[in-house]
Amino acid sequence: MRWGATGRNMGWSPVIYLDHNATTPVHPEVRRVLSECLDQAWANPSSGYSAARRTRAVIDGARSAVAGLLGAEPDDIFIDTAGTESVNTAIASAARLHPEKPLVLISTIEHSACERAAMDASGESNVLRLRVDREGRYDLGHLASILAGEAPRIALASLMWANNETGVLPGIEAAAELLVEAGVPLHTDAVQAAGKLPVDVRSLPVDFLSISGHKLFAPKGVGALFVKRGAPLHALIHGGGQ
Ligand code: PLP
Repeated sequence: MRWGATGRNMGWSPVIYLDHNATTPVHPEVRRVLSECLDQAWANPSSGYSAARRTRAVIDGARSAVAGLLGAEPDDIFIDTAGTESVNTAIASAARLHPEKPLVLISTIEHSACERAAMDASGESNVLRLRVDREGRYDLGHLASILAGEAPRIALASLMWANNETGVLPGIEAAAELLVEAGVPLHTDAVQAAGKLPVDVRSLPVDFLSISGHKLFAPKGVGALFVKRGAPLHALIHGGGQ
């Protein structure tokens, strides 16, 4: 039995669900923890009394858990509202912080969150698109030629780890090596990779990495951005430190 936003039974009860790339149901354990938090960890975590410290401990624990999933440190994790927000933050931030580098490099297979963010941040004519081969893998010859001509003018490369439509792993590791050599910072959209594949920021030289909760049995409306220590970030939303 499934209940709609209005509390009405929507009469939808799938027997077999096979579209976990689109989204996942909320895991019973997640539901249990969320319910406990709603009941017991509602105090403002910035305050000094014990109820507030309980909320702070829950938030710190959640941040550590996300960091653990990615091989990161808790301080390098920014929790936000979605994969879309994480991707937009990384791209808009790079464009904003590097006006002297007008180009953003993406690939032809990116999710619309990445493509639209790149077009908004740098303008259509400043978006470079890396081709993929017949198997959907990054064309490294094309990448090398783009970098040979344009590397100093690229504020950020944003390349996905796993493709949402085909499931193909386009080869982020080899692309990252070329980008590091060329001195171009890399954001990877790991929304379809995290939780399904080992994703460890200690073994892939990325500056930014985006994930989304609802692909990982959390409810909709939760995402996270990994920001490598020392990588500059300009937030999309200001204030709200509480
Ligand atoms: N990137 C990829 C590869 C996706 O598959 C999705 C969602 O389908 C997103 C980004 C956006 O994530 P969210 O739905 O959390 O905004």
